[in-house]
Order: sequence, then C-alpha cells, then structure tokens
Amino acid sequence: MNTVLHISTECYPAAKAGGMGDVVGALPIYLPNQGVEASVIIPKYRTKWFDSKSLKTVHRSSLKLGEDQIKYSIEKLDDQSLKYPFYCVNIPGLFDRENIYLGEDGHGYKDEVQRNFAFQIAILEWLMLSKEKFEILHCHDHMTGLIPFMLKACKAYNKLSETPTLFTIHNGQYRGILDWSSAKLLPHFDTSFKGLLDWDGNINCLAAAIKCAWQVTTVSPSYMLELAEDFDTLTPLLQSEKSKCTGILNGIDNEIWNPTKDTYLDFTLENDDWKKFKRSNKSNLIKGNNLKSRRPLFGFIGRLAYQKGADIITEAISICLEKKLVFSTIILGSGDKEIEKSLLALAKKYPRDISVTIAYDEKMAHQIYAGCDFLLMPSRFEPCGLNQMYAMRYGTLPVVTHVGGLKDSVRDINSGGSGIVTKSINAIGFVEGIERSIALYSDKKMFTKHSKTSKNLDWSWNQSAKKYSELYDKFV
Ligand code: ADP
Repeated sequence: MNTVLHISTECYPAAKAGGMGDVVGALPIYLPNQGVEASVIIPKYRTKWFDSKSLKTVHRSSLKLGEDQIKYSIEKLDDQSLKYPFYCVNIPGLFDRENIYLGEDGHGYKDEVQRNFAFQIAILEWLMLSKEKFEILHCHDHMTGLIPFMLKACKAYNKLSETPTLFTIHNGQYRGILDWSSAKLLPHFDTSFKGLLDWDGNINCLAAAIKCAWQVTTVSPSYMLELAEDFDTLTPLLQSEKSKCTGILNGIDNEIWNPTKDTYLDFTLENDDWKKFKRSNKSNLIKGNNLKSRRPLFGFIGRLAYQKGADIITEAISICLEKKLVFSTIILGSGDKEIEKSLLALAKKYPRDISVTIAYDEKMAHQIYAGCDFLLMPSRFEPCGLNQMYAMRYGTLPVVTHVGGLKDSVRDINSGGSGIVTKSINAIGFVEGIERSIALYSDKKMFTKHSKTSKNLDWSWNQSAKKYSELYDKFV
C-alpha cells in the first residue's frame, strides 16, 4: 500500500473554511479502497472539535523561524472517530485561535506568513526524525506550497529530497505572493535555487509549488484548462509544466451528505419519500426565516466574494423583485462588507421575499441544501464548487454559470441535465436563469423529473480517488 500524508490548513470536521476542508476530510476515507493509506496533518486551532478531542503528543521540539526559536509539537488523534490517522501541529501563539484565516476585523491575520512558514517547517523537521514514514507528500494550496521547494532547495532536508510531492490547487486566486524579505524566514538554501521561488519579481508560493512538485492537480479538468489557457499571469508557467498537470473533479462524502441520516436536518429522508422530505425541510426553512410560502425557494451559500458572483446575486434578485416575479430567496454567507450591506438592505426592503444571514453556519447550510428548490451559483470562476453537488444530492437544482468545475458537473435541463446553466456571467444572465427556474417550477411534472435526475447522480469520491491513486502510482 502506498502511504500518503495530506498536508493542509483545513480538514472537516476539525477545521473548515470552505471546499478544501471538505476535500481533505473526505478523500483519505476513500483512498484505502484504491490501495492507498492516507493520513492528514493540519495546524491545531482552537475550534470546538479540537476542544472535544483527546490528542497524544508524538513529537516535541523547536524550530528556527528567522531569528526566532519557536516551540512546537506534533499531536495525533487518540480515537478512531476519523477513519484515517490524523495529526496536527501545535504551535502556541500562532495557531491557537478560533478562526482559521481571519481576525476579528474580517481581514487575514497579519502574521499569516509566519504561520504558514512555521507550519511547513515544523512538518519537515518532524518528518526528518519521525518513526512514521510517508512515501508521498500531498500538499494543498499555497499555504503548503513551499514544502516541495524546501525539499529541493534546503540542505537541512536532504534526506527527504527524493520524497515525491503532489500539489493540489483548490483555488488559484490565492497565491501567497510575498516580498523577498520573507525569504529570511526560510531554512537556509543556496541562492541558485532562488528562481524556483520567484514569479514576476516576488516570492510566489503557488508558482514555487507548481515548479517544484512532482505532479500538480486542480480540482476539476476545466479549471486546469482555464488556468493554462486563459490570460492569467500563471498561464505560461502552467503551459511549461503541462506534462505534470492534471484536473481531477472533486467528489463528495456520501456518508456526511446523506439525506437519510444527515444529523443537521430536522427531517431526514424516510422510506424514500422525497416529496415529504423536500416539503418538510422547505416549510421548516420558510417558517424559520419568515418567508412567503407557496412559491419557488432559491438558496445561496458561500463566501460573499467577487469570485462567487455574490454581487451578481444581489443585482439579479433586486431586478427580479422589482419585476414582481414570485419567488423567495435565502442567503447564507459572509465576506465583502459592501456586498453584505447591499444584501441586508435588500432583505430590509423585501423582508418576506429574501432572508439574509451573515454567518458561517454548517447546520443552516445543510438545511438550505435540503429545503430549497434551486441553488444559485453565479460564480465568475469556480475551481470545482461542491455546493452544486450537495444541492443535487438533496434534489435541489443548481442554477450555475458555465465555468470550471460547474461546467464539469452541471448540464442544462435542455441538454438532458439537471440544472439551469446561464448563458452569461452577469445580472442579466442570472435574471434569465431565475426566470427559467420559476417557469420550470410551475410545471410540476417536469420539475419533479429533473429533481429526481439530479438526486440520482453519483458524486461519490470513488472515481476521483482512483484517479489520485493512479497519480501516486506514478511515483512509487
Ligand atoms: P470555496 O471556494 O469557498 O471553497 P466550495 O464550493 O469549494 O467553495 O466549498 C464551499 C464549502 O463551504 C461547502 O461545503 C459549503 O457548504 C461551505 N460553506 C461556504 N460558506 C458557508 C457558510 N456561510 N456557512 C456554512 N457553510 C458554508
């Protein structure tokens, strides 16, 4: 069996801020069936999950971060509640905070560089001495992107330099672009390796990972093509590294996202009675949010960011309400303060038509997937997107743009699919998408047919886990 260590800053249920947490929490469960033994390591945060768990220290030492000597320990989960070995890096002062990335002001932590560097260095220091041996290191996003570089360039880690690395890009928008002064925080490396860190005159952790990792994946095939072919600053790099780049569509954890036993739902699916399942969850959601009933219910869950088209939602819904279209909307998310403000203003103007919750709320998210008729995803780009898969699993039709992973997972109802794919990525395109959805909803027979198609699709990890294991096989 190949042994793989997943190195990430998120892993559900320990700590999650978005899709990467879901992926790192689920993929290792499905890899053993493909002959791969996967373990996970993340930083130790002060989340409720960590508070409720017993961890045993397997290594304790200190590391050098520039001029500072920093104490850290590696701890291992002491029970079988996750179906894979789970480790965390405990660095008091840097990671023992409730939020994963954002401070109370809603901005990224000011010591983000120190945090990311210390986390990665601690893992390599541990691996140098550890009895636990991993044949392959699988790094996720730019926060772990310097590990492939350090293995190549830092003498201190020479012993590990033949360890194969796979780097997965969950979101190429975030790159870890740093001033060169940050280089002094890294363990010593020969200046001839400087070029591996550089992109456009800065240290670029994402670019360094693309250059140094043995294989690179994105979380959908279309997103890889978009990054490699569109006019992006990383396009020339991805083109020159093409031979080691693959797009693998994410799957979902069918055990957690299971309508028959979802513990976040007040009404689970019983006796395969989907009508009752949808009706009771919808009515619960409508009552709980004081919305008008007997009309199609749309949902949105996610970061209120430009990427997610959260501004498009605000504009499109506002146009539709002015047009007096009959529908209700429920929105859950947080992010851009301007978008938050305009959504709240819209909810104030039309309190029985739209409800806006500015929060991160796992339970409410599950209830929205289960209770809505349609899920809105007007993303400008979407590396994979998991929401559309969760929605379809719960018989909710996604209304999406034709980009990245959405392109790879949602076909329009007019082409035998189970979603509404909008023609353009703007408010007008989305108004049209909402109008088409409302028309479909009024044709009960058609609506039920498409909802049935969507919930019968298979989004489980099995196929994608097989593709990852084939990549790992290339190494060993
Ligand atoms: P991202 O780009 O943000 O990672 P993904 O579609 O890949 O987007 O994954 C988003 C994940 O985060 C999904 O599991 C979704 O349900 C969850 N999520 C996003 N925002 C919220 C929120 N405000 N409350 C609860 N869950 C959320």
